[in-house]
Amino acid sequence: MRLHFRRSSDAEAWKRADGRLVSMLELVQRYLRQEFGVYVLTVTSFYRPMDTGSPHSDYRAVDLRVRDLPAGAAQAVADWINSQFRYSASPESRYVVCLYGAYDPNGQHNDHIHLQVPPLSEVVAVRGRPTRPPLPGGN
Ligand SMILES: [Zn+2]
Repeated sequence: MRLHFRRSSDAEAWKRADGRLVSMLELVQRYLRQEFGVYVLTVTSFYRPMDTGSPHSDYRAVDLRVRDLPAGAAQAVADWINSQFRYSASPESRYVVCLYGAYDPNGQHNDHIHLQVPPLSEVVAVRGRPTRPPLPGGN
């Protein structure tokens, strides 16, 4: 799976990406490859230093292009990653690791997948035991 960065500055900044974000993105890539045959993923936005308060200013969030994915792929991968992980262990946390479509009640994530991990002081919460994405062919 290849990662294509729309901006070369983001490709450079990706070297400083939070390791948990890198791992999450690898899971997303594996799922999309196995389930939908996707081999290239486009990063539309990663590091936004002026976007204070956003995980994008802290190397903890990445936006992925949806329009070149097969139909249903973005919602499927959002459903899958959110079924495995929460943004935080806090019971009142409504944030999820991956925002797309219905996961964003404000409708700001209907055209891209926003993948994020919490500040280093928090851990990504695992929902139960993580499972591998189902293999093509239903095994
Ligand atoms: Zn974003």
